[in-house]
Amino acid sequence: MVARVIPVEPFDLVIFGATGDLARRKILPALCRRFAEGQMPPEARIIGAARSDMNRAEFQALVAEAFDEFMDDSPPDVETRDNFLALLDYVTIDASSDFGWPELAQKMRDGVVRAFYFSVGPSLFGSLATQLGKFGLVSEETRIVVEKPFGNDLETARALNQTLAAHFNETQVYRIDHYLGKETVQNLMAVRFANVLFEPLWNARFVDHVQITVAESVGVGGRGPYYDKSGAMRDMVQNHLMQLLCLIAMEPPYRFDPDAVRDEKLKVINALDPVEPDDLVRGQYIDKGDVASYLTEVESSASLTESYIALKVGISNWRWKGTPFYLRTGKRLRSRTSEIAVTFRDPPHSIFGESAPWRANVLVIRLQPDEGMTLRVMIKEPGPGGMRLKDVALDMSFADALGDDMHIPDAYERLIMDVVRGNQTLFMRGDEVEAAWAWTDPIIAEWQKSADKPKAYDPGSSGPEDALMLMHRDGRRWREIR
Ligand code: NAP
Repeated sequence: MVARVIPVEPFDLVIFGATGDLARRKILPALCRRFAEGQMPPEARIIGAARSDMNRAEFQALVAEAFDEFMDDSPPDVETRDNFLALLDYVTIDASSDFGWPELAQKMRDGVVRAFYFSVGPSLFGSLATQLGKFGLVSEETRIVVEKPFGNDLETARALNQTLAAHFNETQVYRIDHYLGKETVQNLMAVRFANVLFEPLWNARFVDHVQITVAESVGVGGRGPYYDKSGAMRDMVQNHLMQLLCLIAMEPPYRFDPDAVRDEKLKVINALDPVEPDDLVRGQYIDKGDVASYLTEVESSASLTESYIALKVGISNWRWKGTPFYLRTGKRLRSRTSEIAVTFRDPPHSIFGESAPWRANVLVIRLQPDEGMTLRVMIKEPGPGGMRLKDVALDMSFADALGDDMHIPDAYERLIMDVVRGNQTLFMRGDEVEAAWAWTDPIIAEWQKSADKPKAYDPGSSGPEDALMLMHRDGRRWREIR
């Protein structure tokens, strides 16, 4: 099956931080793939901007090298790659001074979409917005893309929103959460709202609980200093897991339209219960064999930052009151696994007798690896000898269902093209981000008061033992991280 590609209009895209890790590993390869698919017109221009002093040819060489390193699983053919590199330009610029800005201003074309991607550290987001205004680069066709982290708490997020609002309308601000660009995550909305099958059951009467897991097998690596100031709650829960929770829990928007979707997500965040200290477990990985501990990786013997968090949260609205949502995320876990599992309640009465083995229906939406969905249902075990029940998986892997030719786009491919098209549906609105911090801040403040140490867990495990209890005491179990 070949995906339908609708070409976008010509645009100028400036990537601030074009020499950095994110630009080389994700943004530029994503653009090249869209170019290869025929979605990007030859009149499009991509201007790299950073402090490193280099000319256009040197930047093109740096990007070619990045492709060799980061696109080795499906490299573009040489002609496509060279045609893409021909679209690139470079400006040496300093976000926090006037250096390089007149040159950038002079390169921008009138009458095409202008997108500015802030792929620099968050301390520079405010200066970039101010400089864009100062050098007259903001037109009606201007959009900015702001990477995470969007603030460190409610106060800093609010201040950043205000700085951006001084130069841009909300319709021009694209706050990226790459989880929303994942195909499976969007598919979640298709499954919920394009089928009649699930929505009648999608409430506290029929759903026993929901588990959202985002497990990483890697440690903090080179991000140690940043991560240690942040921790799993700020780095993952406040944004990615919260967005997944919103898409599961929100009411049907009246239309698949940016504000209609974001209004419904905001209502969910506002309805989240505060999290009691007993409903939360924080963990930190220790060393094992050749694997260094969290404390070694962040070079601090006293850090209380969590590399793992599990929590239980309720939603106080008519649809969800009584159905707990269990969230967990962490580093150095058994495998890289992200999934949402919706576990349904048992039937009200078993006609097969009390002793019949019973497994609740579970709908699992796999984000990685092997994007797809599984619905576990009970059937009769084949053969004579009475009615024996067995639970089986109705399994759908995207790769199998859509065929080998189907390229599942990376989240950044989808999201950057949405910026160019002016579609904000899969980007967070300012009030959503603030509401998420308003829920997160008191939880963090509470554990900071106690100064408790995070619970130790082994690298390669599924997290601290105490996290198991979070579910056991409710008579439930975490799904295995395989
Ligand atoms: P990085 O590797 O440290 O790159 C930072 C970039 O900013 C470099 O190109 C650097 O180039 C440029 N830069 C630094 N100071 C500058 C200044 N004063 N003026 C202009 N350019 C400047 O960081 P990154 O990992 O790519 O992350 C970029 C942003 O994306 C951060 O906000 C990060 O939180 C976010 N993010 C990253 C990832 C990831 O996987 N890497 C994932 C999610 C979000 P010069 O030194 O040449 O100026």
